[in-house]
Amino acid sequence: MNLTNLSELQNIDTHLDAIQLELVSLYAAMQRDGLVATTEQNLREQQLIEKEAQKTLNLILEDIAKKKIKLAQSDAVLYSGKVQNPKELQDLQLEISSLKGIIATLEDKQLDQMIKLEDLQSKVAIAKLDFQKAASTFETQKSQASARTQKLENENALLLRKREVVLKSIESKDINLYEQLRKRKNGLAIVSLENDACAACGTQLTPSERQDVRSSTKLFYCPTCGRILYAK
Ligand SMILES: [Zn+2]
Repeated sequence: MNLTNLSELQNIDTHLDAIQLELVSLYAAMQRDGLVATTEQNLREQQLIEKEAQKTLNLILEDIAKKKIKLAQSDAVLYSGKVQNPKELQDLQLEISSLKGIIATLEDKQLDQMIKLEDLQSKVAIAKLDFQKAASTFETQKSQASARTQKLENENALLLRKREVVLKSIESKDINLYEQLRKRKNGLAIVSLENDACAACGTQLTPSERQDVRSSTKLFYCPTCGRILYAK
């Protein structure tokens, strides 16, 4: 068995696996961002609340305008001298004073509502900034992720071509053995010996085991993790 070619295949596959893993997270990063969605929803909600408060203020203003027209009319009647009857005059004066009271109360309400509205408007402004910030951060992330994705996809295509070439130099029974082991061993079937230990699990080998790894006549499986070991 040619372990050099198989380990070359392993290197390519390990690289391909890493690319796939990173691509999955990059594709996810380019999807609509959670923070953008929540800040946008918050902005919409704040805008709705502000709109309602503006409506309430408009109603109060309309009410004040109506009452002022009524007051002006009553005043005009009072000073026209047309009403002579003392009872009617008294009623008119009572109405005028009542209207003035109502207008004063409404104007207090107007002031309160304007303060409330101002507060809501600043909340909308903050919500807008939060949303714009999240959106622009996301756009930056997205374009970075997109560039990285492009690079990885090119690398992926190149590795797949390299893999085809390497596959031709390995016997199909060895490829089968390798593929099966890869499935069972989390993608890593063949590992090198690093400082007399298995590079995958770190198990130290005895001198005679190291001899076996170096012999080209038979495969040596790591006694702990079961992967094929090869000497560089
Ligand atoms: Zn091992």
